[in-house]
Amino acid sequence: MTDKERIKLLEDKIKNLHEGYRKQLLNLEKFKAMVMNLNLGLMIVDNDEIITKVYSSFESLTGYTAEELVGKKASEVLLRKGDVISDLQLKEQHTLRENGDSSVYEIPIIAKNGEELWLTISGAPLYDDNGDKIGSIGIHWDITRQKRLQQSLQQAREESDRAKHAEERFLAKMSHEIRTPLNAVIGMSYLLKGTEINEEQKEYVDVISRSGNLLLNLINDILDYSKVSSGQIQVRQAPVDLNVLLTDLAQTFRLKTLDKPLSIKTEIDVEEDAVLADETLLNQVFMNLMSNAEKFTEEGSITITAEPLAEIGDTLTYQFTVEDTGSGIAPDRLEAIFQEFVQEEGVILRDGKGGTGLGLAITKKIVELMDGKIWAESTLNLGTSVHFVVPFQIAKVETNDGNKRTGVTSDAPKSTDTKIDSSLSILVAEDNSMNQKYISRILDKIGVYYEIVENGHLAQKICGHQKFDVIFMDLFMPLIDGFDATKHIRKTENPNKHTPIYALTATAVAQHKKRALTVGMEGFISKPFHPNEIKQVLSEITKQKDQNASHTLFLDNDNSMTFNFHESFDTESLKMYYDGDIEYTLEMFEIFIDQLAESLPLLKSAIEGGDRLNARHYVHKLKPTFTMVGFPRTTTYFEKWERMIDDGLDNQGIENQWEGVRSDIIGINRLVSQEIERMRLYIQRSS
Ligand code: ADP
Repeated sequence: MTDKERIKLLEDKIKNLHEGYRKQLLNLEKFKAMVMNLNLGLMIVDNDEIITKVYSSFESLTGYTAEELVGKKASEVLLRKGDVISDLQLKEQHTLRENGDSSVYEIPIIAKNGEELWLTISGAPLYDDNGDKIGSIGIHWDITRQKRLQQSLQQAREESDRAKHAEERFLAKMSHEIRTPLNAVIGMSYLLKGTEINEEQKEYVDVISRSGNLLLNLINDILDYSKVSSGQIQVRQAPVDLNVLLTDLAQTFRLKTLDKPLSIKTEIDVEEDAVLADETLLNQVFMNLMSNAEKFTEEGSITITAEPLAEIGDTLTYQFTVEDTGSGIAPDRLEAIFQEFVQEEGVILRDGKGGTGLGLAITKKIVELMDGKIWAESTLNLGTSVHFVVPFQIAKVETNDGNKRTGVTSDAPKSTDTKIDSSLSILVAEDNSMNQKYISRILDKIGVYYEIVENGHLAQKICGHQKFDVIFMDLFMPLIDGFDATKHIRKTENPNKHTPIYALTATAVAQHKKRALTVGMEGFISKPFHPNEIKQVLSEITKQKDQNASHTLFLDNDNSMTFNFHESFDTESLKMYYDGDIEYTLEMFEIFIDQLAESLPLLKSAIEGGDRLNARHYVHKLKPTFTMVGFPRTTTYFEKWERMIDDGLDNQGIENQWEGVRSDIIGINRLVSQEIERMRLYIQRSS
């Protein structure tokens, strides 16, 4: 090879190399341009986080020019002043880089125009040719839009959660608020129906009563429906005795349909002691189906059937049927009745059987919540069968648990025999004056003794010194509510620690009912209630009392008199004075009240005026009267008082004695007045 040729070869080689480098450089430029176009801001900082290089993409991202950034500490120029969290985050990243680690993190920075930008930063340590760490490089990606979206979604979710809670609270409150006056409307119309009114007035009362009930059903249904639809209802399982549940259900409807030629039958093939189920929900399904059956059946029968369908492992599927001999449903409407707001047109106006058309839609949803299925079969004018199947786990129950408590009205003690002991004493805690009046009239008619207080505080107070046989307690009252009052009565030593307490409640919220049981209530009477519901409870209490025979009823062995005094009275002394002559007793009691009304103010002013003579006079005058109305202990107190005055008791002492007996006298006055009313009724009835 000649020199010339050798030079040519070398030249070619150099050309190729050059071409190679050029291409590589071009690629590098292309790559750089690509990276720059990716909208990724690049920035380099040294080991002390001082910015050493800023690429144009970072400039356009933040609005700062390279000159404004280079030489400054990144956190000082880019972070919001006082953003402690981000500052800590950067320090943590710094430590990672010192250890040679790369990482990706999110951080908010402040752009030059003051706007907050959220960045995802991928940071990596940077080394020089000798492998020494000289700082780190960060690739910054603007995620402000995503972040804002995320934040507003989160905010919307929180707002919707808050709104949901507010709605639930609102519904619960409204249900209570609407039902309370409605209770009074319906209750008063029951009472009005029982008075002497002419046919025209009776018709009006019937309309009030029907419309009231209609409105109540509507409110209940809308509440239930909104709860089921918004998924607020959860299935809470506990052992349920299906035999008891269905027998009680049948019994409830037997009582409800007394005025119709309708027999309520059961065919229950249930061997298990208990299955795991949500009793409240299951009961609601049955109540809805039974109410429909009752509504659309004028005569014949309604039969409740329960039969096992399949047993797989410990899952037992039951088929339940509510079959009636009522008006039936046209075949083309069978499917539709489970949809919302479906009912025969004009039902409400035509015969007052109207509902909301929500009952079966709610029922279906509840059955589905329990993993079940519901359907109906029907023949027009012959009757309807609604079937539903539900799988249950078999519950293991302790065999010696005889003390099961359940929380629905239908579980309130039931008895066809409504013997009520007239000596029962009842406390009613209820703040609504119309409801007070309603229940007091019911109790007046029954002829038992009762006290009404208007809040939980007064209930607690009276329970501390007066024994009752049963307490009816409104759940929501001013000062102290029914829950707290019950808790107090159960937890403190007082004569009513074990007295049965029934909630009088207009609440639709299952939690409230559960809470009522938890604080120690026995059961519920849902407002508006029928007088029979109160009677049933009183009859049950009478039975229990008879069994315990805890106190001697007045003239137990004397057939000449069956009037029973409230147990605060000393019946022995009454027997001694009046020997069972109620008319005479009544006269004496009336005199006592008159005398008290006359003498008490005089005694009081004598004491206040320091008039010892007159004070002694009235103490003496009143002394024997208490025994005459069955309070010999108060007579003894007055005796002692009189003696003390005679022995020279000073004015302050006389006043102290008065203070010591004042509330007793008020109580006696109340009790005697109540007994007067009861005796009058008793005499009226027996003549
Ligand atoms: P409503 O609250 O109006 O009773 P439901 O959803 O419970 O609403 O029932 C929807 C409709 O289905 C009723 O209006 C009635 O027309 C019909 N229906 C339901 N059960 C029966 C039944 N046992 N017998 C006859 N018709 C029934």
